[in-house]
Amino acid sequence: MPIDLETLEATLAALDDFARRNLPDAKLRELDDKDEFPEDLVRRMCSDELGIQLFFVPEKSGGLGAGSYGVYRICEQLAGVDVGIATGVLATFLGSEPISVGGTEVQRRQWLGRIAEHGILMAYGATEPAAGSDLAALRTVAERVEDGGKLVGYHITGSKQWISNGGVADLYAILANAPGGPTWFVIDKGTPGLTAGKPEDKHGIRASNTAALALDKVYVDADRVVGEVEGQGLLQAQAVFGYTRLMVAAFGLGAGWAALNRAIEYSKSRVQAGTPLAEKQGYTHKLIVPHAARLEAARAYIEEIGTRLDAGEDQLNTEGAIAKYLATEAGNAAADASIQALGGYGYTKEYMVEKVKRDVRITTIYEGTSEIMEMTIARDRWQTHLKTRGQHYHDVAAALEVLDRRQPEAGASFAALAAHALAGVLERARVARLTRHQHILFRLGELIAWCEGAAAVVRRAVALAEGTLDPRAPRRFDATAMAALARVFAREAARKIGDEGLAHLVGAGGASDGGCAELAASLGLPAIQRAQAGQLADLDRVADALYGRTSA
Ligand SMILES: Cc1cc2nc3c(=O)[nH]c(=O)nc-3n(C[C@H](O)[C@H](O)[C@H](O)COP(=O)(O)OP(=O)(O)OC[C@H]3O[C@@H](n4cnc5c(N)ncnc54)[C@H](O)[C@@H]3O)c2cc1C
Repeated sequence: MPIDLETLEATLAALDDFARRNLPDAKLRELDDKDEFPEDLVRRMCSDELGIQLFFVPEKSGGLGAGSYGVYRICEQLAGVDVGIATGVLATFLGSEPISVGGTEVQRRQWLGRIAEHGILMAYGATEPAAGSDLAALRTVAERVEDGGKLVGYHITGSKQWISNGGVADLYAILANAPGGPTWFVIDKGTPGLTAGKPEDKHGIRASNTAALALDKVYVDADRVVGEVEGQGLLQAQAVFGYTRLMVAAFGLGAGWAALNRAIEYSKSRVQAGTPLAEKQGYTHKLIVPHAARLEAARAYIEEIGTRLDAGEDQLNTEGAIAKYLATEAGNAAADASIQALGGYGYTKEYMVEKVKRDVRITTIYEGTSEIMEMTIARDRWQTHLKTRGQHYHDVAAALEVLDRRQPEAGASFAALAAHALAGVLERARVARLTRHQHILFRLGELIAWCEGAAAVVRRAVALAEGTLDPRAPRRFDATAMAALARVFAREAARKIGDEGLAHLVGAGGASDGGCAELAASLGLPAIQRAQAGQLADLDRVADALYGRTSA
């Protein structure tokens, strides 16, 4: 049973209270300055004192199993405090996920039970010096050890790079090449031959421990193979991406909002040229409002995927990638804009936004870089485009048009324009064979993510208006403000897909037989431009909502 509203609210309140007492800004800055992982605090968070680990462990393995939706809310809040500390907590669940999906019943009880009961910390060891985005290039090997012809264990030799909790974990999940293929092994801290390097001196998330690992003939018994079958490692790693990338997406969301909230507060009292910055459109409509809209579009997408995962859907890798891509890029951009929004103060450590910016930066890199997300998204949806003979995004648009008739305020017609334009861009790319260029393929990945984000934020606005939004969803914005946010993002998405899609097609030589104007018309650019009517008024409305002002 996914977490209920009451338990979720109590958990978030306890987390908030813990952070207020133990992690004030001064403490977070000190950890950042000293490049120090607060091991005792993370262990207290994962002990009876806070019990945060219980929500990540399924009920059948001794936890409380908050489900993906609950985990998204918890991860967002954790990252709003500090992405480094959140990473220290998350690493345990990255490490335990291969066990969750691929472990035997006994293994799940044993290792997940230790996390739930004793709050042990885990590390997830996949990346290697020569195997980053391309995990298949992994070189760590696991040699079988036999006794009288019977397999009894393995000797694991190799190295791992950039491992969160690498120097502090009690238990390690290590991906290594066994004779049957890539395989996850579970190794206890202190096992002879396993050593961690010194903590990396990083750009951000300096409150997290990141270390290389060296494995020199580390012996493990045969029952340390996750699932007790060799060769399942990459499949198990893939199988958890929908969920683990959702957690990192929530980090982007939490950190982005943490920075933006500081900028909003700052701009209420900072007076320049006679009035607070909060009252200046040139400020709010560039540095605050579009970022709020992008973050809320990402939230809408995260919530949909969390709900689907909790309903038992698996194979949501592409959707996990879209969620991560939208939320972490939005979080990173929001944090950057927040530095600008605080001017010179934003550039100093005391005001914290520069730290958030350095911290959130990692979310576009780990658990798959943004470029790998673009590739994942584009490849999958390209197949959908081909299988449906170009109809898929026209169908998405048709569903949005139905929604628009029901709730015309929610911006569904703009999202529909975005989807029609995307279908047109994809089809033109097919006819002109443009996806053979990696650049075009990746840029399509970006446009696809924006289109799906626009559809999700519109659906969220409709659900809020109709009273069907999940009760566990945060309600910072009322239905009117949410609809304005949805319109702002959907218009931006339509403009981006139309304008940039056209530019990419033309740039790759895809317009030679038709001409730019004709192509622009076929993508619906004139309608997209007309749909920008009202954008300024909506930016005003969202600004008013963010600053608690009554809209004119
Ligand atoms: C602080 C930190 C914590 C981490 N924690 C963990 C952890 O706990 N466990 C773990 O296993 N790993 C961890 N990682 C590793 C992380 O997941 C990898 O850094 C990431 O997947 C990228 O791999 P890479 O660094 O080797 O970069 P590369 O794969 O070399 O990529 C470099 C650049 O090239 C791009 N690129 C890569 N492949 C392609 C391609 N085919 N086409 C076009 N462009 C491409 C990338 O997008 C990127 O911009 C962590 C990393 C950091 C920095």
